[in-house]
Amino acid sequence: MNTLNDLMQRSGLPQLEARMLMQYATGWSRVSLISRGLDALPVAQIQLFSDLVNRRLNGEPMAYIVGVREFYGRDFKVNPNVLIPRPDTETLIEWVLNGCHLAVEQALDVLDLGVGSGAIAVTLACERPAWRVSAVDISVDALSVAAENAAALGAKVSFFESDWLTVFDGLSPSPKFDLIVSNPPYVATGDGHLSQGDVRFEPRKALTDGSDGLTNYALLVQTVPKYLKNGGQLWFEHGYDQGNAVRQMLTQAGFDTVKTIKDLSGNERVSGGYKTTA
Ligand code: GLN
Repeated sequence: MNTLNDLMQRSGLPQLEARMLMQYATGWSRVSLISRGLDALPVAQIQLFSDLVNRRLNGEPMAYIVGVREFYGRDFKVNPNVLIPRPDTETLIEWVLNGCHLAVEQALDVLDLGVGSGAIAVTLACERPAWRVSAVDISVDALSVAAENAAALGAKVSFFESDWLTVFDGLSPSPKFDLIVSNPPYVATGDGHLSQGDVRFEPRKALTDGSDGLTNYALLVQTVPKYLKNGGQLWFEHGYDQGNAVRQMLTQAGFDTVKTIKDLSGNERVSGGYKTTA
């Protein structure tokens, strides 16, 4: 029999994934899937479902197959041009919103370096409508995903195509931000991580610096200060084992009150500090 339940059970996928793909193939809600579990699926949809299942069995990330991933309570469109938003990055959001003493109602100037899908910049713009959020990425394909997410979620974000801060380089006076955040590519090349699971399908450029994973932090701690207001803050996401190195770079570059926040798994995940520029 080709009932919905049979097809999902025979798919070889975990039940939750099979259900998500069946929802995608049929356009039915989770609740209708349950109540129609014993119905036969029309042939055209059987084919579609089995194509989706094969993609998943082949290792393709669920988020790319269904084209969306939830992040901090909102659905973000994703495609293989952008990294799939991770719960780890919600640690950075949570810290910026509730930990680092930034005024909720003021028109703070905020910049996200390497915006990708827009998870960080769009979430901050939605959660803090008074803030003026800008974002850069080196990839135009990523920027177009981020812009689509901003539009769909009603977030006002100014986007710039730029290799980190270079788009602002010649400007006089330089733009100055109250807060700069970044989740740069930080996986070291030798790291077996890059050949496992979902990451095999994600853009290399968004995951690794092609080196030890630390080169972007080294560059950004030097280049960011020029674009911070006096007392402005810089916060990075980084790898679970990079806290020490990133704290050291921040301190050497003259950031104060440097500190690290742990993610929900207890790993060091976010580090940053304040810069006195006057
Ligand atoms: N957290 C991601 C991973 O481990 C890496 C993200 C990044 O490089 N910015 O797959």
